[in-house]
Amino acid sequence: MSDEHVVSLQDVEVHFESESSLLSRVRGETDVVKAVDGISLDIPENDVVALVGESGCGKTTLGKTAIGAQRPTGGTVSYRGQDIWKAKDNDGDVEIPFDEIRKSLQIIPQDPGASLNPNKTVQHSLAAPLKLRKPDMDSFERRDRIHEMLARVGMEPPQDYAKRFPHQLSGGEKQRVALIRALLMNPDLILADEAVSALDVSLRIDMMDLMLELQGQFDTSFLFISHNLSNASYVAGNSNGRIGIMYLGELVELGPIDEVLENPKHPYTKALVWATPNLNPDIETETESPLRKVDVPDPRNPPSGCRFHTRCPEAREACKRTTPESVAVDGDENHSVTCLRALENHEYWNSPELEGESAETPTEEPTLADEPVQ
Ligand code: SF4
Repeated sequence: MSDEHVVSLQDVEVHFESESSLLSRVRGETDVVKAVDGISLDIPENDVVALVGESGCGKTTLGKTAIGAQRPTGGTVSYRGQDIWKAKDNDGDVEIPFDEIRKSLQIIPQDPGASLNPNKTVQHSLAAPLKLRKPDMDSFERRDRIHEMLARVGMEPPQDYAKRFPHQLSGGEKQRVALIRALLMNPDLILADEAVSALDVSLRIDMMDLMLELQGQFDTSFLFISHNLSNASYVAGNSNGRIGIMYLGELVELGPIDEVLENPKHPYTKALVWATPNLNPDIETETESPLRKVDVPDPRNPPSGCRFHTRCPEAREACKRTTPESVAVDGDENHSVTCLRALENHEYWNSPELEGESAETPTEEPTLADEPVQ
């Protein structure tokens, strides 16, 4: 991993106006969803970051913002030091054109089938990015390059696969075509958004292994997004990568995978580890959930202070009125947490515990861990 940041997000916000509730309509107000709220994240070359969070926590929005597919409403997003949206708007001295930035930041979508034209063969779908990236390549060179890539991802014989249409491919094969299409752009960063969620558990491992193998061979970085801590841990753990935990639009913990799993600092991270059977072999002997049994808050109306305080077993009165900031864990800049408990002398420690809400054994909560990676 080099020190140069391919992508740098500084204090990024993405706020959307949403369909207003009845009360807001009566009051003449507009509801705003803070899908991403004040997140900073640097992604160096050859880095792997796995982002985990529940549905609706803003992880997909953050991913799209990182690759320049979503304009932030606040903060900055830079590619190799160039503000992406200033490049898009031709604002000031633009050193890297927006088109070049977008080619360097690619995505493997959640549903690769939907992103492949049903009327075009694999050869045709893969030729398009090559024409864009290497306009001087003749059609024979393009064909050879596509066959080489198909063989590299195990789609053999490549001559046969190149002639197929999307409906003649399995889910895993479509995902491999999407991976090739992203790699043919020679990208610096690939966003893999729930890229393995739809695959069978056995195929997931193959796909994740393949992504990691090609990540090393192509010197690219990966931003891997999942609602499943097992999958995210597998990817980060096999690439010496980092893991980021998101909750209601905020990045509540970020650090090297071993650090975060073995020494989780945020109560939410602890809950996720608790709820992930293959990361927590003691789960059957534990009886008490680390989460308070309440509904996940509405992102249009997040709780005051620390957004996690309604579910947090460590919450105290101070958490209701103080918004914690991200701080380094024990002075380690690589591991950060957004929790008042990380501050030794904070008033949190003398503040009374929240009353009337106790941790209960969950029926279905937490929900993040589904099928574990074996
Ligand atoms: S700040 Fe308070 S409520 Fe928030 S995670 Fe820390 S202890 Fe829990």
